[in-house]
Order: sequence, then structure tokens, then C-alpha cells
Amino acid sequence: MKQRIPLLVFLAVLALGPQLLPEFYITLLNYIGLYSIVALGLVLLTGVGGLTSFGQAAFVGLGAYATGYLTTAHELSPWLGLLAGLGVTAAVALVLGFLTLRLSGHYLPLGTIAWGISLYFLFGNLEFLGGHTGLTGIPVLEFFGLKLSTGREFYYLIWVVLLGAVLATQNLLDSREGRAIRALKGGGLMAESMGVDTARTKTIIFLIAALFACVSGWLYAHLQRFVNPTPFGLHIGIEYLFMAVVGGAAHVWGALVGAGVLTILKQWLQDILPKIFGQSGNFEVIFFGIMLILVLQRARDGLWPWLVRLVPVKAKQQRTVAETEPLPCRQMPAAGTVLLEVKDARKQFGGLVANDNMSLTVKAGEVMALIGPNGAGKSTMFNCISGVDTLTSGEIRFLGERTETLVSREMARRGMGRTFQHVRLLPTMSVLENVAIGAHLRGAKGVLSSSLHLERAEEARLLSEARRQLERVGLGEHLFDEAGSLPLGQQRILEIARALCVDPCLLLLDEPAAGLRYLEKQALAELLRKLRAQGMGILLVEHDMDFVMGLADRVVVMEFGEKISEGLPEEVQKDPIVLEAYLGGVE
Ligand code: ADP
Ligand code: MG
Repeated sequence: MKQRIPLLVFLAVLALGPQLLPEFYITLLNYIGLYSIVALGLVLLTGVGGLTSFGQAAFVGLGAYATGYLTTAHELSPWLGLLAGLGVTAAVALVLGFLTLRLSGHYLPLGTIAWGISLYFLFGNLEFLGGHTGLTGIPVLEFFGLKLSTGREFYYLIWVVLLGAVLATQNLLDSREGRAIRALKGGGLMAESMGVDTARTKTIIFLIAALFACVSGWLYAHLQRFVNPTPFGLHIGIEYLFMAVVGGAAHVWGALVGAGVLTILKQWLQDILPKIFGQSGNFEVIFFGIMLILVLQRARDGLWPWLVRLVPVKAKQQRTVAETEPLPCRQMPAAGTVLLEVKDARKQFGGLVANDNMSLTVKAGEVMALIGPNGAGKSTMFNCISGVDTLTSGEIRFLGERTETLVSREMARRGMGRTFQHVRLLPTMSVLENVAIGAHLRGAKGVLSSSLHLERAEEARLLSEARRQLERVGLGEHLFDEAGSLPLGQQRILEIARALCVDPCLLLLDEPAAGLRYLEKQALAELLRKLRAQGMGILLVEHDMDFVMGLADRVVVMEFGEKISEGLPEEVQKDPIVLEAYLGGVE
């Protein structure tokens, strides 16, 4: 209860606002509310998802013009105006997202700039939208016979919409889909390997951000009761981004802080700067530019985390994971079943042949080690098997099915769990949540039920599974620690727990012992023996000979992209070709 006091005080002040404040402040708060709705979308898109959009003002414009046009020229209901705006916005966002989100990082910002500029000019040049003068005579909103004709009356609608959006966004982020969204920032590779469709996830957050902007535009049009192109230009799009960044791009409440600070500051600067400079002009833009640079230099995470530190009550951390019925597991193949079969694999990078004539098998209930000197082509083989890269030629079969053309997400779905040579986790998220990403494909609830928190039963089962896997690997004590605070050895173990959450029958581990101390290596070997005894097939890519030799059932040795030896550990250890290649001919 105690940690809710700041929120309750804030809500009480908000609720009493219209009773106490003069008109000017009501107007200011209305605008802060409208801007916050847009900035909230950017928190999700940019702050959490790592995708930058300069074009949100254009989506606001779509929402405003859709309702403006339909309610004036066709005298339709504002509610139809809202629906039409949402429909058009969704269509544009999907097309824009489809064109740019699959490409690398810079295409989305560039695409949104182009979109922001062109829509602004389109609004200004279309005759039926009133050109640069815009549309007037937009009707007031009516709620159950209650006309919202003044700012004071409109106030509650804006803030209820905003707080609803904040709550929905918070709920969404605290869910299976939310973990997928938060995993985007760690680069798509890890998320995809855990079964997350990153292109879809990016499209979803782009769509949500656009729809939030559209709703803000709809409210704006009926509050202002006229629209023209000015508030929907690119420079306003940049201001929205400012708000999200200044407020604290990764925090939902940061949207409100950013919108509040910038709106008030702008108001104040527009009063004071022309007096200082002795002439009128948009001097506040210069000020905002400097402010943004300072925030990026001094307070990367914006003002919100700094504000939170000022408040004496600490937010309560979730400290328990409910006991639930376990998630269904796949039927493990019988020990000795061939899980993975690679035949005549060849991988070329331009003229460089990284893998050639490679063949190997991994069976259920065995540890197969792939070893070889640096640059031998082990990671390349590993990437082709796990669907991160595709072979130039050759075959890969997983559980009897040809898989050489499948992407990593599909390999996860089929029962392949993997870890990374360079640990890939989300350092500020808890150990538990990091591991729960691995269980992504074992849940099904989508964005809508997550936003409304109707998926709590499934979520509890996913978290409970994550805990079970963490206990299985011996990290049960660290469920709520920040993942980034663990020592490297435990981070590697965390990755194994995450891979186990995929419910795999084959585990691919790329240099799991790298950087571990002696005792940590022994603990890791013990864990892998335990998993093997439970019927897991393990493909181990390793550098550390001693580690491999004490653990592996069979060993394949690579050099220059090819297999030079294969057999039991004691056999390959004595193989003169291996000694020559691997140990440089040491006697
Ligand atoms: P290992 O994991 O055994 O150390 P790698 O599979 O990483 O070896 O590399 C094998 C060879 O392929 C190296 O010569 C490396 O430079 C090259 N290589 C690996 N990945 C790429 C890539 N994406 N593009 C070009 N060359 C690559
Ligand atoms: Mg490697």
C-alpha cells in the first residue's frame, strides 16, 4: 500500500484540478495530456523497443483530419471519425512498418521522416481538407447527452484516456509479449533464437504507437474544434520524440514527465526568450536542442529515474513465483535416437570456405563435442545448424526433418535450445524474466489480453517454468537479481536455463566454459552430465580440451573448415593429425 501513495496523491491532484485551477492551467494540462498519449507510444516504440520514429505527429494528424473531415463534410458521428482514423492509421502504419522494419536500424527513422514531411504537405494541399487554412466547425463530443464543449469538461476525458493507455502499456510490458518487446533492444538474434518473431513484434509496437497518436489527434480535433496542418509537421514529430527522451524513454510515466516539462518550458520560453532577444522567433527550439544534448550526456535514461530516486518510498519488487501446474512438455526421443544429422555441409563467405564436407550426428542422451583451433569454422557450423545462417550447400536434418532453410525461430519451435558464445541477456531485467523469454513459444496469449492482464494464469505458468529451470541449473537463489549483476559464469548458466525453457531435446552450447573459473567449469560439467542422463542431446562447441575430454561421449575435430578426426575422446586425443593441428605438433 505504502508504495502506492505517490500515485494516489497524483491521481487526487489530477481529479481535483478542474475544481481548483484557473482556465489557463486547465488548457495547459489538457495539452500535456494529449502530448503524453503520443509520447507514451514513443516510450514503447523507442525507449523500450529501440525503434526511432520522427513521424508520430503525422499519425496525430491522421486522427485529427479523419474525424475533422467526416464530421464536417459528411456530418458523421465523431465515433465513426475515430474508427475511420484508427483504420487509416493502422493501414498506413502496417505498410510503413512492412517496408522499413525488416531492414536494418536506420530505415525506420528515415521512413518516418519522409512520411512526416509528405503527409504534412498533403494535408496542406488537399482542397477537401481545407488546404493550409484547414477545417473548421468540428462538432463537440457528446457523452451520454453530456456535451464536452469547454476545456474543463474535456479534461477528464483526456486524462482518463491517458491513464488507461498508461495502464495498458504497463500491463503489456509486464507479460510474455512485453518480454518479447523488451528483448528487441538486445538485438534480434537472441529473441529470434528463443522463438520470438521480431519483425512481428516490431510491427506491433509501431502500430500501437501510431494508434495512440491517432487517438490523441482525434481528441485534439474535438477539443480545438478546428484543424490545420501546422501541429502535424515534422518539427512537432521531433518534439514528441524529445518528450519521450527527456522524460525517460524506457518508463511509461516518463512520457507524462517529458510532455509536462517540455510543454511548460515551451510556454515559459515563448514568453521570456523574445524579451531577452528583443525580437520574436522560435528561440525555444535552440533551447530544446541544447537541453536534449545535455539530457543525453548527463541523464541517458531521462528525468523519470531521477524523480523516482527523490521519492522516499520504494516500489515493491515482486518476490514470489506462484506454484502452478507445469507447462506441457514435449515427448523426449529415446536415448540413442539420432536428433541431428549434418551431411556434406558447405558454407562459403564470398571466396572464403568456412565449412566444407562437414558431416556429424548428435544422438539423444549424449554429449557431442565439436572442437578445433580458432577460426576452424565451429561457430559457422553452429550458426547453420541453429538457423542463424544458411548453408551454401548440403543437408541438415533435425528429428528427421530437413531444416537447412529454416530460421532460428523455427528451430526453437522444433525443440532446439541454444546459448551464445558471447552472453546475450537483458542486463537490467531480472534473472527470472530473462529465462522466461525462453518459454515464449509455450504461451499463446497476445497483446490484447496482455494489455488487459487477462493472461495472468498463463503468465504464472510461464514464470513458474522459468523458476523450475533456474532451480534445475542451481540458480534458484537468484530469481529476482538483475541479470547483469551476476558473474559471467552464472550468466552462462542463466543462458542454459533460458535454453531449457524452450523445452528442447537438443541443446547447442557455443563455448559455455569460456571465461569460467575452475570450480565453475566443474559445476557446468556436472549440470551437463545431469541433463544428458535425463535424455538430452548436447552439441558442445568448445575450445577447452580438458573440459571436453572429461565430458564428451564423442568428439569431432575441425580444422580449416573440415572434419579431420572423429571418435571417442581418448581416440581423438591420440590421433596424430589432431595433435598436429590442434596442439601444433606437441609431442
Ligand atoms: P571458430 O568458431 O571455429 O573459431 P568461425 O566459424 O567463427 O571459427 O570462423 C571460421 C572462418 O570463417 C574464419 O576464417 C572467419 O573469419 C570466417 N567467417 C566467420 N563468419 C564470417 C562472416 N560472417 N563473414 C565472413 N567470414 C566469416
Ligand atoms: Mg567460435
